[in-house]
Amino acid sequence: MESMFVRIPALAARHGAINLAQGVFDHGPPAALLRALVAAGENDGVHQYMPSAGLPALRQAVAAETSCDPDTEVTITAGATEALHCTMAALLGPGDEALVVEPAYEQYAPAIRSAGATVVPVRLAYPDGSFAALLESACTERTKVVVVNSPWNPLGRSLDSDEWTALGDLARRRGVVVVSDETYEQLAPGGHLGVLHAIGEPELRVKISSVSKSLAATGWRVGWAIAGPDLTRRIRAVHQFVTFCPAVPLQHAVASLMGSPEYRAVVDGVAAGLHERAAWFAGELAGLGLHTKAEANPFYLLADVGSPAEEWCDRMVLDGGVAALPLSVFYSAPMPSAEHTVRFAVCKKRSTLEAAAERLAARV
Ligand code: GLN
Repeated sequence: MESMFVRIPALAARHGAINLAQGVFDHGPPAALLRALVAAGENDGVHQYMPSAGLPALRQAVAAETSCDPDTEVTITAGATEALHCTMAALLGPGDEALVVEPAYEQYAPAIRSAGATVVPVRLAYPDGSFAALLESACTERTKVVVVNSPWNPLGRSLDSDEWTALGDLARRRGVVVVSDETYEQLAPGGHLGVLHAIGEPELRVKISSVSKSLAATGWRVGWAIAGPDLTRRIRAVHQFVTFCPAVPLQHAVASLMGSPEYRAVVDGVAAGLHERAAWFAGELAGLGLHTKAEANPFYLLADVGSPAEEWCDRMVLDGGVAALPLSVFYSAPMPSAEHTVRFAVCKKRSTLEAAAERLAARV
């Protein structure tokens, strides 16, 4: 099976289409991060292996944001993706089941399957509703993990309080570990309430995050897993044999920016730029009759295209226009209420979005 994030960007390039299919920036990270990297590189000590659990300064910076213990509860990984793989390999084995709340980002199911476990989808109908009521009926004696994502790719919204309450109940009653991908956490206006707030028991939750989105650095592959000491020991036991440690100069640069007084303003600047450009593009789409809803996660816009979305997306990309993804690719089986919905990744420069809007106007 080929990742859609391998296949679709290649298809877009072949047909000269603008890539609004993939949630990847088309510009560099903030200047403050680049300055931190240059400064880090000048230090002789950063070019060699570091402790596998992660650079102590970076673990401390991550811990300071979340009030957990940097030595026993934080593991630095090569992006959220490695954190996910290590977590699944640490927690799951043959015979186990993991619930995945859909629509879901494509990495979760393969990570679960490569641990030898079975994926059990919990399918949330689009556009409305809460998955709280669906969790119980999907849970069996074999369920070990439930995977959620907040702010949510592709829906954009954050989990609501019913959903967090249901996850906490399930975790406590059934001993299920909630694995929460919170990669978009810094982009939510007005702050973010994630799994660390929702579930008090450190051994019942894993929070996964990264700098990919908050610092516009998806290619840096700097992420982390935060979990209780027992879970962390198990995650590190896998991680040491996967990447040993992610790129050390990059860990240094991120640690020094996160520890500086300008960090909050830098992250807020990235988020504000994303929200502003997403709002602008949403206005352009609305002008074409494609209506979207503003959500916590400004990376993605979902629009109803009024016809089968898979065909609509094929037509747009093959004709050299714009690549986007049908929402159906985030479900493991057809979801009729989602069939006309398209996801646009709008984490792009204003000029890219302007060009995309022009192409769409000529084609819809
Ligand atoms: N998270 C991104 C998305 O959903 C893409 C990830 C990738 O390109 N590997 O679009």
